[in-house]
Amino acid sequence: MRDLKTIFNKEEYDVLIIGGGINGAAIANIASRQGLSVALVEKEDFASGTSSRSTKLVHGGLRYLENFEFDLVRESLRERYIQWKSVPHLVKPLRFIIPVYKGDRRPLWMMKLGVFLYDFLSGKYVVEKHQTLTTKDVIAAIPHIKREGLVGGVAYSDCRMDDARLCLENILSARESGAHIANYAEAVSFLKVGTQLTAGANIKDILTGKQITIKAHHVICAVGPWTNEILRLDTPTEQDKIRLTKGVHIIYKDKIADTALLLQAGKDHRVFFVIPFGEHSLIGTTDTDYAGKPDEVESDRDDVEYLLSEAGKFLPNIKLQRENIVATFAGLRPLVFASGNPSKLSRNHVIEENKSGVMYIMGGKYTTYRAIAQQCVEKVLSGKKLNLGEDYPLYGSGSHEMNEAQLAKTFNLSIATCAYLLSKYGTKCKDVLNLVSQDRKLAELLCPCSLAIKAQVVYSLQSEMAVTADDIIWRRLSLGYHFCATKQCRKVIDTLCAR
Ligand SMILES: Cc1cc2nc3c(=O)[nH]c(=O)nc-3n(C[C@H](O)[C@H](O)[C@H](O)COP(=O)(O)OP(=O)(O)OC[C@H]3O[C@@H](n4cnc5c(N)ncnc54)[C@H](O)[C@@H]3O)c2cc1C
Repeated sequence: MRDLKTIFNKEEYDVLIIGGGINGAAIANIASRQGLSVALVEKEDFASGTSSRSTKLVHGGLRYLENFEFDLVRESLRERYIQWKSVPHLVKPLRFIIPVYKGDRRPLWMMKLGVFLYDFLSGKYVVEKHQTLTTKDVIAAIPHIKREGLVGGVAYSDCRMDDARLCLENILSARESGAHIANYAEAVSFLKVGTQLTAGANIKDILTGKQITIKAHHVICAVGPWTNEILRLDTPTEQDKIRLTKGVHIIYKDKIADTALLLQAGKDHRVFFVIPFGEHSLIGTTDTDYAGKPDEVESDRDDVEYLLSEAGKFLPNIKLQRENIVATFAGLRPLVFASGNPSKLSRNHVIEENKSGVMYIMGGKYTTYRAIAQQCVEKVLSGKKLNLGEDYPLYGSGSHEMNEAQLAKTFNLSIATCAYLLSKYGTKCKDVLNLVSQDRKLAELLCPCSLAIKAQVVYSLQSEMAVTADDIIWRRLSLGYHFCATKQCRKVIDTLCAR
């Protein structure tokens, strides 16, 4: 059984980060690369909060143009490019089509202007230029699309990502640079100097129940939706600083189209997506105020009904059915507190230090995580500007010694399996394959439902800090999002974990 005292063995750290979502993970990575001593604690698994429940897009956010958030869009488009170029195994271009109908609140001219402006703001960071589409083009690309009233459309590009693994690669890179890190370790109270100043935190090991204290010069709370709760742990009289809105997605069994769709909901005029997701489709998201506890967020009947019925209006021939939903997931947007329609609230972030000297990160998008983390570390370094350039390599980044065909020959596996492993692990794919060399049984598929092999489970436990079967199913291998008739993969993972 692990002992947190041996992981966090320094008397005092430069920085203690509470929260192992994307923001905490990236702060740990950038800070440790700057030579700072870093401790990070996460109360569940890395990315188990909002950072594995996003729409999984690295995007400028076409819809933020409507709110005139040009700076946010410009910054996001630059970040999109940096992540695509730096971590190409996890961040990949994706083409979107927006079909436009007679009477739409956002008519064709507005959509044309929007995608033109989007590419203009991208400047040299463009992924693939936009296009105007005729009705015929839209139908050719999405044969199931509703034809009645269709007047044309536009196409533009953004990127998709594996959100949980991108977060994990930040964690693993930080650990490689010397950061001390633990999941299933919760900050339960702050360590005070005198009455006010915070000098660390008391951490409870969720696996053993034991408690330790971590001292640090700087304490950073990157706890996303848990910000209001932790604020009051520090200062009981604090008012709410973030507003939580719930976003639900469904994974639909069929792949509806090879291209992603951006659609305008008839009910409330919000935009939502239908995105090809392996063999399936990802449909989302909703945006409704949430007043419950962040740990208890889940999708309900109304959320699912909204998504099925709004998507169904555009896909009349498919007849979307509840029975064909493979999975649903719900996440919370930790938005900087403001009143008004949730969909219109800014996705900009704020970094604020409270009276006790604790730094809080509020708001923000996944896409801009690198920039947010850089700003936090600059604050820790008393405002010193960091020139990180436009390269942000992570754990599995770098050029490959062998392509999938060569790996398949060397390790006696199928080309499809090797291509799959390359796209999950990048250069670290070799470490997974070395396990296969040591034990040939680990080359076996977990289950016919996917290309995942047994070696990945061992690798998740040995090298990727997975603790539970769920950590592996949802955040290391993403199997939870895939349809499996037999659930054999879960049984095999349980058996390997128990061993
Ligand atoms: C439905 C939805 C869709 C989205 N889609 C996109 C998208 O496609 N693209 C995009 O750019 N952005 C998207 N976003 C926004 C993006 O996902 C978030 O901005 C981002 O994930 C927030 O990361 P975080 O690290 O701040 O929070 P989180 O990922 O929630 O991490 C906070 C962590 O802190 C931990 N924690 C809490 N309290 C404690 C404690 N006391 N001790 C230790 N650990 C603690 C939690 O367990 C959690 O893991 C979306 C958001 C939602 C809700």
